[in-house]
Amino acid sequence: MSSPSGRRLRGATMTTRSATLALDELVRARRRAGHDILHLGFGEAGLPVAPGLAELLAEAGQRNNGYGPVVGSTEARAAAAGWFTRRGLPTDPEQIVYGPGSKSLLFALVAAIDGDVVLPCPSWVSYAAQAGLLKRHVISVPIPPEAGGLPDPTRLEDALHEARRRGARPSVLILTVPDNPTGTVAPAEQVQAVCEIAERHGLAVISDEIYAELCHHGHAPSAARYLPERTVVTTGLSKSLALGGWRIGFVRAPEGTWGRGLRRELVGIASEVWSSLATPMQAVAAHVLGDPEEITGRIAASRSLHARVATAVHARLTEAGADCRPPAGGFYLYPDFAPVRHELATRSITTSADLATALLDRHRIATLPGSAFGDPDATLTIRVATSLLYGSDTEERMAALTTDRPEALPWIVRSLSRLGDELHRFTGR
Ligand code: PMP
Repeated sequence: MSSPSGRRLRGATMTTRSATLALDELVRARRRAGHDILHLGFGEAGLPVAPGLAELLAEAGQRNNGYGPVVGSTEARAAAAGWFTRRGLPTDPEQIVYGPGSKSLLFALVAAIDGDVVLPCPSWVSYAAQAGLLKRHVISVPIPPEAGGLPDPTRLEDALHEARRRGARPSVLILTVPDNPTGTVAPAEQVQAVCEIAERHGLAVISDEIYAELCHHGHAPSAARYLPERTVVTTGLSKSLALGGWRIGFVRAPEGTWGRGLRRELVGIASEVWSSLATPMQAVAAHVLGDPEEITGRIAASRSLHARVATAVHARLTEAGADCRPPAGGFYLYPDFAPVRHELATRSITTSADLATALLDRHRIATLPGSAFGDPDATLTIRVATSLLYGSDTEERMAALTTDRPEALPWIVRSLSRLGDELHRFTGR
């Protein structure tokens, strides 16, 4: 269902493989077949394991052989509580729940909160898919021009009224700050404005802050500041430390009666689905979330690497004629090729899927179409992940992490100029 203003009410969808994982497998297959693909399609931070963590994990594996508490160990929860508290959100260990990646936790949270799901459009691929698995409607509200990760505050209230009129029961709003897919950070005033609307409408907020440590400048505003009793924060170590495969995620439930009830429900679901985060991983979290210097140093180095390479790719995209919000967090860009719509239409490229397919088949550049993130099919957007440009082996990636000018390293220069040339050929600009 869709309306002229772009507000849409999506019903349960068929469960297909996550678009990001499916593309990654396609790229691997093409590479095995000998194609030289510039992979900008996968949100993998692609950096070496931070110093000391592999040893710590090996050592923890020798002793942690029981399931442990569903919520996570006392040490790991105390570390997470301290970590939030030092970042301006005073937290008690009782508010923390660990899980195998924030993706599982997000699913369990939506399952725990009855009603329909309000999403910014575009937004991360799995939110709508998870809502579909739970047979919830999605109320999709366009993002503002400034930044993604939240619905435009000037359109949210009308969208909620309209959704109710059509029979939906909006109950939870998901925000992503910093955002995937747009690579932007919502301004604090807009987060606040959206929280005020959420409060008036009795919505809970899930604030996905998995990229919070990778804000290029300053700090990301958390909805938990503006709607403290109804905001639950999800995060993990997949992005800040590039440990996606270690599956370390955790939740901060709010204080108060509603928060305690939500946490009980979440723990009930966790106990029936995954039991606990692998205990050796909890030992890793307990260490990392104490903010030891070698870890904060590694995160600072990766933040600066992401910022510099995303900025360089942004320049290539805009030079070739795309519109694109400047990068401000994480390692993504979300260019819109609307300014060259006419040129592309002469080659029968009229949808974001056509755009991504043409870039892959004719230019060997892998990206994801905006439609995977909920954008209408005819929008000429793609999501570009910049983090796989850092190098093809640990040595190259380490060099990228330890230089002030990664964009000057020979292999990154080569990828950037190949990208620039292909984009110019593609748009004809
Ligand atoms: N939220 C967002 C916005 C993401 O980009 C990702 C990973 N791509 C996740 C959540 C899930 O991360 P994980 O399950 O590894 O914690």
